[in-house]
Amino acid sequence: MTMLHRRLGQTGLQVSALSFGAWVTFGNQIGDDTARELLHTAYDAGVNFFDNAEGYAEGQAEIVMGRILKAAAWPRGSFIVSSKVFFGDSYRGANGRGLSRKHVVEACHAALRRLQVEHLDLYFCHRPDPDTPVGETCRAMHDLITQGKVLYWGTSEWSAEEIAAARRFCAAHNLHAPVMEQPQYNLFHRQRVEQEYAPLYDTEPGLGTTIWSPLASGLLTGKYNSGVPADSRLNVKGLEWLRERVSTEKAKLAVLPALAELARELGTTLPRLAIAWCLANPRVSTVILGASRPAQLTENLGALELLPKLTPEVRSRLESLAAT
Ligand code: NDP
Repeated sequence: MTMLHRRLGQTGLQVSALSFGAWVTFGNQIGDDTARELLHTAYDAGVNFFDNAEGYAEGQAEIVMGRILKAAAWPRGSFIVSSKVFFGDSYRGANGRGLSRKHVVEACHAALRRLQVEHLDLYFCHRPDPDTPVGETCRAMHDLITQGKVLYWGTSEWSAEEIAAARRFCAAHNLHAPVMEQPQYNLFHRQRVEQEYAPLYDTEPGLGTTIWSPLASGLLTGKYNSGVPADSRLNVKGLEWLRERVSTEKAKLAVLPALAELARELGTTLPRLAIAWCLANPRVSTVILGASRPAQLTENLGALELLPKLTPEVRSRLESLAAT
């Protein structure tokens, strides 16, 4: 199936509708050979956006991705790579995290070194920083763009009001404004993308969305229905909080058999159906896939073929089942 491309909000950037991210896996859960196989599988399937962050495996995820990108030597125009700033890498000093001018600039330089690229296509503020005036962050991002180190900047998990405040500051001071957001979006987590951000999509400068955890960290595959498999991310050291969260999702676990039944009726699998549901929302610029093995990624990339079957009737059946 040919990859679909969508504009990143109102920018001119064409992003593949399915993209691929490094959280949990690169530099942590999986070895470098598997990481390479995953990145190549994604690229060969037409994925053009690879998502990363300074905080993923304390910078190791970017180092691993950078080595693979360098060895692959793909034309720079053929892929989009991101980093995110806020959580810090392995350095733990007072200015090693947050959205101050100092950290935003230094984290960008560190990401460029680790990823071995000359510019970041997308650079996200990974969370809002209550300890830094928003204007300081806006000016730092604007400067990185004018220096050619970053092409587009955006936010991740900022409230609509926080994004609007940054836009107002940028408009008032003639700065490059944030043009994309990276929110969680899946059948169990819909409010922010569908309602809270609604006023932002069509107002200047638009809002692209690169959505994360389309499978709710694997919950929407049905793999946790009867306990946690030993080789899943919920057993990765440092992710005890995620395991705790998933184990309290009893109500969500209960609806999974009905969702899987609907997938069978449509002749597909639950992961594909859950991902295709995300894709069916035109406000989603790209769905960032996660995978710890190539077979998962290949399965998930098949969601594209299912998209034509996501009629309004199928979507509403799916949504009512997920909400019960
Ligand atoms: P998902 O919700 O899709 O979870 C992916 C995980 O689910 C895989 O690593 C794998 O885990 C399991 N899985 C995937 N496909 C299958 C399958 N077909 N069958 C069985 N299990 C499957 O996405 P992520 O949570 O990984 O998020 C995707 C990306 O989004 C991240 O890599 C990152 O780039 C970004 N992100 C951004 C955040 C932000 O704050 N901005 C936060 C979180 C993610 P397992 O190893 O357990 O099998």
